[in-house]
Amino acid sequence: MDLTCCTLCPRECGADRTQGRGRCGAGMLPRLARAALHRWEEPCISGTDPSRGSGTVFFSGCPLGCRFCQNHSVSLENFGKEVSVSRLGAIFLELQAQGAWNLNLVSAAQYLPQVIEALDLVRGRLQIPVVYNSGGYEKVESLGLLEGYVDIYLPDLKFMDPALGADCADAPDYFEAASAAILEMVRQVGPPQMGADGMLRRGVIVRHLVLPGERRDSERLLRWLAGAVPVEDVLLSLMSQYTPCRPMGRKALNRRLSTFEYDWVRDIAQELNFSGYGQERSSAREEYTPPFDLTGVEQKEEGSV
Ligand code: SF4
Ligand code: SF4
Repeated sequence: MDLTCCTLCPRECGADRTQGRGRCGAGMLPRLARAALHRWEEPCISGTDPSRGSGTVFFSGCPLGCRFCQNHSVSLENFGKEVSVSRLGAIFLELQAQGAWNLNLVSAAQYLPQVIEALDLVRGRLQIPVVYNSGGYEKVESLGLLEGYVDIYLPDLKFMDPALGADCADAPDYFEAASAAILEMVRQVGPPQMGADGMLRRGVIVRHLVLPGERRDSERLLRWLAGAVPVEDVLLSLMSQYTPCRPMGRKALNRRLSTFEYDWVRDIAQELNFSGYGQERSSAREEYTPPFDLTGVEQKEEGSV
């Protein structure tokens, strides 16, 4: 992948990353905000043992850049520290040694070549499933690089209406990209495979955050998904924790989601026979946003793999 004219993500901004940063904030070295066990993913990803969790690596920057992002210091402001590819591989092994159920790569699209290089460095030693946790704004061609590396895809499916994508993330092409990306993810890893311990070993969990005032868009997305793939080939995680964090152009996006709106969309998911996860309305809380403080990023001494 030529990073002197980067076209990794649908932005295709053409940045020369050997000389500077792209629109997403990415340069040549992977930049991380946190690498630690995390207990706030779906139960089949985080487990229920409080001493364990998902081994999350939060990459800085994001190709999508949603205005409502709860991780905005990382995604929009690019908080983080650059590490070598060798250090990235060492971090993967450190999370495994801490008891991570899986390695959870959060918003890594802008660093795919570096992630693949790091995974190659730890091949044979990293025994846990690799989760690719994405906003869904991906190119099929780039996802193709991950075939054989990723066991579980955890994409968002955010909006269908181009105007909504434009208002929320300056991405009127969001659905076009995300819908193709999800089909590619399902093609690569197939239907969900759950271990006897209740942990997901392989498969795709599609996450949808219901947005205030936009339940009809949610309905259209769910009906598209149910028509595009057999519903038993994906798990659906229907999320309710939208929290306004900056003024939004659409009035409804400046409030929380109502119980009525969430239940309305959940009923459609049930009617369509999706399996997966819902979210209690009381969960619109800060616990979902971990402290971005470089935990696990800086090595005590030069760790190489
Ligand atoms: S990954 Fe970043 S640098 Fe590359 S095309 Fe997308 S926005 Fe530009
Ligand atoms: S895709 Fe996710 S990480 Fe990126 S800006 Fe949107 S909400 Fe934040």
